[in-house]
Amino acid sequence: AAQHLLSTPTTTSKSKSSKIKTEDEVELKEDIRNGLEECIGDTPLILLKSLSAATGCEILGKAEFLNPGGSVKDRVALHLLTTAERDGLLTPHSGDKIYEGTVGSTGVSLAYLARARGYLAHIVMPSDQSIEKSSLLEKLGAEVSRVPPASIVDQSQFVNKARSLALEHTMREDIPGRGYFADQFENDGNWRAHYASTAPEIYRQTGGRVDAFVAGAGTGGTISGCARYLKERLPEMRVVLADPPGSGLFNRVKYGVMFDIKEREGTRRRHQVDTIVEGIGINRVTHNFEAGRELVDDAVRVTDEEAMAMARFLVEKEGLFVGSSSAVNCVAAVRAAKKLGEGHRVVTILCDSGARHLSKFWAKAGNVGGGWEMTLDDVLDAGIQKKG
Ligand code: PMP
Repeated sequence: AAQHLLSTPTTTSKSKSSKIKTEDEVELKEDIRNGLEECIGDTPLILLKSLSAATGCEILGKAEFLNPGGSVKDRVALHLLTTAERDGLLTPHSGDKIYEGTVGSTGVSLAYLARARGYLAHIVMPSDQSIEKSSLLEKLGAEVSRVPPASIVDQSQFVNKARSLALEHTMREDIPGRGYFADQFENDGNWRAHYASTAPEIYRQTGGRVDAFVAGAGTGGTISGCARYLKERLPEMRVVLADPPGSGLFNRVKYGVMFDIKEREGTRRRHQVDTIVEGIGINRVTHNFEAGRELVDDAVRVTDEEAMAMARFLVEKEGLFVGSSSAVNCVAAVRAAKKLGEGHRVVTILCDSGARHLSKFWAKAGNVGGGWEMTLDDVLDAGIQKKG
C-alpha cells in the first residue's frame, strides 16, 4: 500500500481533466455477466499452429468447448428456449417441462439452462449409451429415461419417445405446466442459432476472410447455419462435410442418396457400426441438415484411426484435448487445406472437450507419449494403414 501511495502521481488542477494513469492502475468498467447463460458464445478462434505449419495454410479452430456447458450445443439450447418463451410455448416456474431425445451434448445444455430459467427437463436416450452421460444429466437435475435402441420408424425410439412424452404432459390435467419438445433434428431454430451467433463470430474474427468451412453433422444445425451465413457473404468459400464411419451423409452430399451405391453402406443403423466417434454422423434425412445441404460443396470420410491419431497429435503439439467429433473435423480440415493448396484459410469447429469422451474414444486412442516426434503424415497414414 505504501508503495502504491508513493507511485501515485501528484495531480495538479491542470491535469484533472486528462487523468494520468500509473502503470498499475486499471480502468474501472463494470463487467458482470447476468448469469451463466451470458457466458455462452464469443468463443475464441484458435490458430492450430501444428496443422497450419504442416499444410502451409491457416487452420483455425473455433473453441466451442469453452462454452459453459462444454459444447457448441449451448448456443442451440439457449436459442430454442428463448424462442419458445417468446412464442409463449414456455413460461418459467409454471411447471413447464422440456423434453428432448439426445445422446449427447444437447441434453447437458438443455438440462442446465432449464434449471437456470425455471423449467424441468426430461431427457430420453438409448440404453446403450455410457452411464456417465445419464449420471451427468441427473446431477444437473434432469429426469432421464433410457429406452432400448431402435429405428426412427419405431415409436419407442428415443426421439419419438421424447416427442410423445411432451405431448402426454401437455394433455394431462393432473400435472402442472406443459410439455415442450425441443426437437433439435427438425426444429428450424437449431440452424438459425448458428446463423445468428456461431457464423457471425467467425466472420468477424477472421476479418471476413475464410476459404473453407469444415464441420461434421449430428443434426446438421452447425454446418447448415454456418454455411448459409458465410456463403451469403463469401460466395466463393467452400463448405466441406466431415463424416465419420457408418454415416450416410457423405453419400447424401456426393450423390444425393443416403446409402453407398455399391455397398449400401450407410443404411445400417449407427449403433451397429463399430465407430468410436460420438455426436456426428447420421443415416436419415433431417430438416437441419437439408436446410444447408445444397451449400455443402464436398464431403470427406474420416476413419476412427485417423481421428484418434489426430486427437493424440493435437495434445502432443498443441496441448489441446478435444473430443472425437473435433478430431474428425480437424482431419477433414487438413484434407480440405491440402486440396485448396498453400496460403488458404480453413475454419473448423472444436465441438467439445476430450473429457466427455474418456470412456470410449480416448480409452481407445490411448495416452499421449512424451516425445514430439509425431508428424501430420503419421496422422494421415493412420487411415491408409487401416485401409491397406
Ligand atoms: N460434436 C458433438 C460432440 C455433438 O454432440 C454434436 C451434436 N450432436 C455435434 C458435434 C454436431 O453438431 P450438429 O448437431 O450441429 O450437427
